[in-house]
Amino acid sequence: MDFTLSDEQRQLQQLARDFARKEIIPIASEYDQREELPWQVVEKAFEVGLLNAAIPEHAGGLGLGMFDECLIGEELAYGCMGIYTILMASELGITPILVGGTEEQQQRFLGPMTEKASLAAFALSEPNNGSDAAAMHTTAVLDGDEWVINGTKMWISNGGMAEVTVVFATTDRQGGHKASVALVVPRDALGFSYNKIKHKMGQRASLTSELVFENVRVPRGNQLGGLGDGFKIAMKTLDKTRIPVAAGSVGIARRALDESVKYAKAREAFGKPISTFQAIQFKIAEMAMGIETGRLMYQKAAWLVDQGQTHGFESAIAKAYCSEMAFDAANEAIQVHGGYGYVGEYPVEKLLRDVKLNQIYEGTNEILRVVISRQLLK
Ligand SMILES: Cc1cc2nc3c(=O)[nH]c(=O)nc-3n(C[C@H](O)[C@H](O)[C@H](O)COP(=O)(O)OP(=O)(O)OC[C@H]3O[C@@H](n4cnc5c(N)ncnc54)[C@H](O)[C@@H]3O)c2cc1C
Repeated sequence: MDFTLSDEQRQLQQLARDFARKEIIPIASEYDQREELPWQVVEKAFEVGLLNAAIPEHAGGLGLGMFDECLIGEELAYGCMGIYTILMASELGITPILVGGTEEQQQRFLGPMTEKASLAAFALSEPNNGSDAAAMHTTAVLDGDEWVINGTKMWISNGGMAEVTVVFATTDRQGGHKASVALVVPRDALGFSYNKIKHKMGQRASLTSELVFENVRVPRGNQLGGLGDGFKIAMKTLDKTRIPVAAGSVGIARRALDESVKYAKAREAFGKPISTFQAIQFKIAEMAMGIETGRLMYQKAAWLVDQGQTHGFESAIAKAYCSEMAFDAANEAIQVHGGYGYVGEYPVEKLLRDVKLNQIYEGTNEILRVVISRQLLK
């Protein structure tokens, strides 16, 4: 077993670290307050090769594996989880095309995304069903050689801005998950519109939208996999893409730790730095313990993906553990900062607002416990 990163991996990690320091951290608070997606950061990420890096070489991309993607993710989330979510959700949108698409479809849909800065989106959740995704109401009906989509999707990251959106729909509401289909919808499809969701608690630099489909027509050639494969493709996708959420959570926890160490050394109480109090030292030690444990978990899950081995159990554990560990780290970072931690002058209150979402999206941590226990009890 070897825990050493290769030279290429260290360079990639350094690239992402520098990118977070130069391009993300200086603007993160401003875009959070404005609730606006910083498009210039997406463009710069594209220029340096950090955007949609999983697009395979045969479609013109870099073809990065999950382990490398997660190394990038930890660094970018250190800068801002909301901005990282823009890039992460794009990889989430690309993944069903990698999981269920033919080589021709991958070239057709993903090839153009390697030529200019562009985003993808993954549209599974609906207003009335998130965890129970198989109960979807959005319908797809075949009309000749076209699918006609009607319905509403909810909480879609990059929704409306994405060049391609993978939409999961039912062909028969009585048929359950076996009657589902995955369809690629281009941004300019007629009848496709979106409404931005405002006033989010955190990750406000990422765009979250309601998507509306009114008789949206796409060619049959935009169908990924076979008829009835939609739900399966969605679940296989999430088994993979939960790992970058875990990596991002570790990035948040690392930021919480660094901010806490810096503040604890500078802030004095009772005539000495608060870092000399054991109560503060132990919070810092706990954060470090969580970060080390979480990183091992996400790296193991990512490694399994890259080896082509089963990984659903490990990815669920990594995402649930890391997001809860990072929530605790952000919470304790506020405590270390005292009253100053509670206001926007220091970055730690944003860390807590941002990290909460990591426990909810890509399968709530309760649903992940269902996934984990099902495996153990079957
Ligand atoms: C900012 C944001 C971005 C998002 N981005 C995307 C995206 O890009 N694409 C996408 O498709 N979706 C996205 N989502 C949706 C997200 O995946 C769902 O919110 C999530 O899956 C939960 O679904 P729900 O909100 O309908 O909650 P519900 O399913 O209604 O759950 C409510 C509560 O009940 C619990 N619960 C439900 N069922 C069970 C059960 N069987 N056992 C135990 N507890 C249970 C849940 O864990 C939760 O605590 C996003 C959400 C947000 C807030």
